[in-house]
Amino acid sequence: LKILGIDTSCDDTGVGVVELAPDGTVKVLANRVWSQTVHATYGGVMPELASREHVERIDSILGEALAEAGLSLGDIGAVAATSGPGLVGALLVGLMYGKGLTQALGVPFYAAHHLEGHIYAAASEAALSAPYLALVVSGGHTHLFDVPQSGEYVLVGATKDDAAGEAFDKVARLAGLGYPGGPAISEAAKQGDPNAVMFKEPLKGQKAFDFSFSGLKTAALLAHRAGAAPADLAASFQRAAVQFLVGTTVRAAESYGRKTVVVSGGVAANAALREAFAATGLKVVFPAKGLNTDNGAMIALAGAAALHTGRAASPLTVGAEAYAPLTAVSHRSA
Ligand code: ATP
Ligand code: FE
Repeated sequence: LKILGIDTSCDDTGVGVVELAPDGTVKVLANRVWSQTVHATYGGVMPELASREHVERIDSILGEALAEAGLSLGDIGAVAATSGPGLVGALLVGLMYGKGLTQALGVPFYAAHHLEGHIYAAASEAALSAPYLALVVSGGHTHLFDVPQSGEYVLVGATKDDAAGEAFDKVARLAGLGYPGGPAISEAAKQGDPNAVMFKEPLKGQKAFDFSFSGLKTAALLAHRAGAAPADLAASFQRAAVQFLVGTTVRAAESYGRKTVVVSGGVAANAALREAFAATGLKVVFPAKGLNTDNGAMIALAGAAALHTGRAASPLTVGAEAYAPLTAVSHRSA
């Protein structure tokens, strides 16, 4: 069964196609993303412009995805689209488009949670079998979930201020390294000394499993003003952020008795983070290349999991939700 996935939650127009085999194995057939550039001059995403860009691009991105998969619309057996969280106007474009397609094709529709999509992006690399911990580190989220069984999410910890990706973006900006900050920091760090700038571990000594990045950001700003070289700043900040993320997750895995950790979201593309997790001895699953940041294939993968576990299709009355905690999503009874 071929499943089409659509994500228009923020400033990326993503359409992907995934094949679901009867035994539950999945294969990504296509993943096309249009990353909007109109926002660059504003230093942040302009919601109204994002919605308009989605409307303009979604047809051609769908065409590209079908071409990449070597399929036509008639081959699609189900459609999944993100219903939240995200920018409501942006979400509505993909959600309505997806619903329209299912009406035209006569196939079931699945509304997907954006963070569940980020988590299921890792299903592109290995079958996800609960129980496991899921660390979502993206531009807007730094959330650690326990997944005791497939489709059930328990919040273990979350950021108290900035998201991890947001911190990478802000530190890159203050160091003059450009946007998006994650890849820029990662690239600059290769040339820098991770011991050049000392960062205090955030929330040191906490019993909980929370995150905080505002302290690191402020320390980075002070170091920059004191004359730290951008590459040294990048390397040192990256190391501090990675140690904090990995250390907290490892503590949680021990406390919850979990052996497997899924790490997803844009920051999961970070090579230093991947290396540090690989050294923990835990089984760590990351999304395949191109599936870390926002995309449609991850939504198709979440849809594939819904179909495979026999979840009921979503009613076409489902609306877009700006705020939608993942812990409110529970598919256990399905
Ligand atoms: P959310 O999913 O929380 O709504 P988002 O969809 O905007 O947020 P993603 O697209 O998942 O976030 O990720 C984008 C973030 O990932 C950006 O902040 C970017 O800097 C960061 N990022 C991307 N690549 C890397 C990298 N190699 N290292 C660190 N951070 C990275
Ligand atoms: Fe995202």
